[in-house]
Amino acid sequence: AHIFKSGWTGVNERTFIAVKPDGVQRRLVGEIVRRFEKKGFKLVALKLVMASEELLKEHYWHLRNRPFYNRLVRDMSSGPIVAMVWQGLDVIKTGRKMMGETSPSDSMPATIRGDNGVEVRRNAIHGSDSVESAHREISLWFQETELSSWDVCSTNWIYS
Ligand code: GDP
Ligand code: MG
Repeated sequence: AHIFKSGWTGVNERTFIAVKPDGVQRRLVGEIVRRFEKKGFKLVALKLVMASEELLKEHYWHLRNRPFYNRLVRDMSSGPIVAMVWQGLDVIKTGRKMMGETSPSDSMPATIRGDNGVEVRRNAIHGSDSVESAHREISLWFQETELSSWDVCSTNWIYS
């Protein structure tokens, strides 16, 4: 639908963030939500879901030829995921920085992956890596009607 294709730039940029099954099991949902809230980003959608294998295969389609693909899909379907959409200026790039590197051992302290975990298969969080993947992932995981448009009372103190 058109809302997924237009207007998502500047302060309206959006990204898909997910707490993976290992992150949910390790009780990191509050911690991860807290970091995005505290940073100044706006929560647009949030739900707890058991993702189907079909959805996960599509989500990670670009990795289908990698040796870890099947296992990744299995890991991601092993428990509930907290799927979210966050909005704000440069939220895609900043979200990736907040996450750290793909492997927790390459991730700096103070990043989400750097502070929570040691293994690449148990790296707690997913975040879109480009405008295109954000569009694709948000429309894959959410219906238009699940995205809330609302005014944050502190907007004028986050943006000048
Ligand atoms: P991300 O964008 O940082 O999450 O990394 P990718 O998109 O490259 O990979 C998706 C997910 O696949 C990662 O978050 C890891 O959980 C997993 N993954 C990536 N590389 C490897 C690997 O070399 N081995 C295994 N087992 N899993 C990997
Ligand atoms: Mg990725």
